[in-house]
Amino acid sequence: MAEIQIKREALLSLLQDLIQIDSVNPSLSSKGTGEAVIARYIRDYLNNLGLEVRFQEIEKNRVNVVGVLKGSGGGPSLMLNGHTDTVSADNMEIDPFAAEEKDGKIYGRGALDMKSGVAALIMAVQSIIEAGIKLKGDVILTLVADEEYASIGTEAVVDEYTADAAIICEPTDLDIVIAHKGFAWTKIEIFGHAAHGSLPHRGVDAIVKAGKVLAAIEELGKTHLKQKTHPLLGSPSIHASLIEGGTELSTYPDYCKIKLERRNLPAEDRKRVTSEMQELLQNIQLQDDRFKADFDVFFFRPAFEISPDQPIVQTVSRAFESICHRAPKFEGLWGWLDSAILAQAGIPTVIFGPSGDGAHAVVENVDVQSIITTTQVLVQSIIDFCNP
Ligand SMILES: [Zn+2]
Repeated sequence: MAEIQIKREALLSLLQDLIQIDSVNPSLSSKGTGEAVIARYIRDYLNNLGLEVRFQEIEKNRVNVVGVLKGSGGGPSLMLNGHTDTVSADNMEIDPFAAEEKDGKIYGRGALDMKSGVAALIMAVQSIIEAGIKLKGDVILTLVADEEYASIGTEAVVDEYTADAAIICEPTDLDIVIAHKGFAWTKIEIFGHAAHGSLPHRGVDAIVKAGKVLAAIEELGKTHLKQKTHPLLGSPSIHASLIEGGTELSTYPDYCKIKLERRNLPAEDRKRVTSEMQELLQNIQLQDDRFKADFDVFFFRPAFEISPDQPIVQTVSRAFESICHRAPKFEGLWGWLDSAILAQAGIPTVIFGPSGDGAHAVVENVDVQSIITTTQVLVQSIIDFCNP
């Protein structure tokens, strides 16, 4: 198949438009405007391409755009997913919305994470349409809200849409990401007994007891968790994030609360993480009968993993080889992505996207050549997958 040319100028000007629209996540910054304006821009763009486009309005100013390029039928459907929200643009060392191009890079908040991926997946579909290529399967573009916070966007997508596979165009440095960790947030409450500071026989110090929990957590991280490993993801980990307790200097504190985060591997589900914490607290209790605690794993996101043998991984892999003339690298990512939600909904998912620097940092940029390569790989992948 002849390689389809990507229109560099059109791709870059689309990306620059996207960066220039402020879409900071309002759950992360009080100045955040949400995704409604960028969603309208994308809706109009996709309408002009002739796609079936609709909004999913999740909350006020929190909007997904879904565009469908209908196939002729009889081929597998492919979802291309990207988030339109960004983290806060405060305190950046560059103008976050100027989208300045310099030395082969484009700068701005979201340049890398992930408006370049959004631009690439839109331009991939545009290139296929303009080349006059007809597909059998549908291509479903889901440009979602809120990936950077609670993922209400992709959760709304899987309520209404499915596909035979999905590609998420988060920045992967042109590697093919087939696994990432999940996370669990746990609250532990330690109960003591309040008493005047001069009456040690009456008081039970909840903060000191909490120290036993912290020491046990450090030990757990250094021993048991280190023994578990995953070839792409390494070991799970655990750390304390927040602690709260005490009322005044001369009083034994009757209450202390710790919130902690555990990063989990694909084999570790909520049940596993819960029983591990139960055991940890029971062990302290066995050695200290005045230790009283309760816990709750109040938020859990599973890890993600897909077999390299899955058709979508093979498809992207072949496309990469034909464009880049080398074998792709299969990688794991430490952070959590919406891929886990798509996978849980039964959609085999792979992550592939451009290179750059400074996601969530004070200077963020994306490498222009890598966006073009991403778009080329997406074009080949779409044709290969939807026209088997
Ligand atoms: Zn991202």
